[in-house]
Amino acid sequence: MLQCTKELLKEQYGISENAMKIINRAEQEIASAFNGIDQIRQYNQIKVLAAFKRCKVEQRHFLPSTGYGYDDNGRDTLDKLYAEVFNCQSAIVSPMIASGTHAIYLALTALLRPGDTLLFAGGKPYDTLEPIIGLTPSSGSLEEWGISYKQTEIACDGTLDIEQIKEALSDTKCRAVLLQRSKGYAWRPSLSINDIKAAVKEIRQVSPETVILVDNCYGEFCYTQEPTDAGVDIIIGSLIKNPGGGIAPTGAYIAGKEELITQVAHRLTAPGIGREVGSYAAWYLPFFQGLFLAPHVAAEALKGAVLCSKVFEALGYDVLPSAECPRTDIIQAVKFGNSEALISFIKAIQRSAPVDSHVVPEPWNMPGYQDPVIMAAGTFIQGASIELSADAPIRPPYIAYMQGGLTYDHVKFALMLTAQGIM
Ligand SMILES: *Cc1c(COP(=O)(O)O)cnc(C)c1O
Repeated sequence: MLQCTKELLKEQYGISENAMKIINRAEQEIASAFNGIDQIRQYNQIKVLAAFKRCKVEQRHFLPSTGYGYDDNGRDTLDKLYAEVFNCQSAIVSPMIASGTHAIYLALTALLRPGDTLLFAGGKPYDTLEPIIGLTPSSGSLEEWGISYKQTEIACDGTLDIEQIKEALSDTKCRAVLLQRSKGYAWRPSLSINDIKAAVKEIRQVSPETVILVDNCYGEFCYTQEPTDAGVDIIIGSLIKNPGGGIAPTGAYIAGKEELITQVAHRLTAPGIGREVGSYAAWYLPFFQGLFLAPHVAAEALKGAVLCSKVFEALGYDVLPSAECPRTDIIQAVKFGNSEALISFIKAIQRSAPVDSHVVPEPWNMPGYQDPVIMAAGTFIQGASIELSADAPIRPPYIAYMQGGLTYDHVKFALMLTAQGIM
């Protein structure tokens, strides 16, 4: 670091030489992981550019529409672009889908019918899915609609338990299997594309008619392939995470097989209307530009996550994944063991933010979550977790999940603040 950087850090934020030293030392030890991330970023950037070229993206596609939005070229081209990037037949990308949770609910309610069974393969699903399924009673849950739910547990080594999945599928004919690529708020490895590929092969053998969906939240552009490349039928993700590149203001996507995406479209708007309507009176530019930037931004976030892992490992905490482990999502988990260190970590992340850096986050009962949650999100786009953010349910063993970072330098600086607060 330049001498003037050190002085600025000391002067503006009171960061000690020692905290700087710890972070800089950790950074020197992860050069090869960074090189791997650069290689993936390069591939994905070209993949995205080639999709823009195939879709002949033009200035006019950025323009807004109003009313019904018939013949909205921006909307239709954006859909096509996502389908090209994700190497699948069709996609719906929409600012009308409020979040990743909404998109998952939309897809499940579009594809399942009363009497069907949904299998969640891989432990407890992400917290916000519990009310959707009906695990916590909620109006409009799948349970209310007469859709049953089954789940298989994670195997001892933290991966998918294929035998259990096969058994569950041979028992009942499940209409749909949902896999979650990212660990979410769980202490397990996230699923790699190879894990997903292997599961798809086995599921197809025992139950070829079952629709395989992947919750792809946080996974986009972390690897050269996506779950659609591994043969799944549908992937779902949020635009205020990776594929929005920190630029998309809202929305989510659902991508996959044409026939299934058409079903989803009829649920998104209305049967018989499908994707013919849907206007957006703000313009589409940020969705296109965000997707263009997404491979780069995901790589910045990945580097930040790797550095976080190395730093907290050096400080004596359990981390998941380790700095050297190949990544399949942008989440870094750190196990603090006590709520004080956990809360101090989250508060330091907030202090490093460009927005609301003066605000002190406190645990609160967030809609959709079972325990009080503390979140640091000093973001430009509200709650965006492709921007540097950290969250933690306040429950033992007090694990913080850090993710995002539009620039690596921001994450590096934030880690100095967190380390300083804990040492
Ligand atoms: C974020 C996330 C969701 C839900 O997305 P929201 O946009 O927060 O509703 C679902 N699953 C996983 C794994 C996620 O990371």
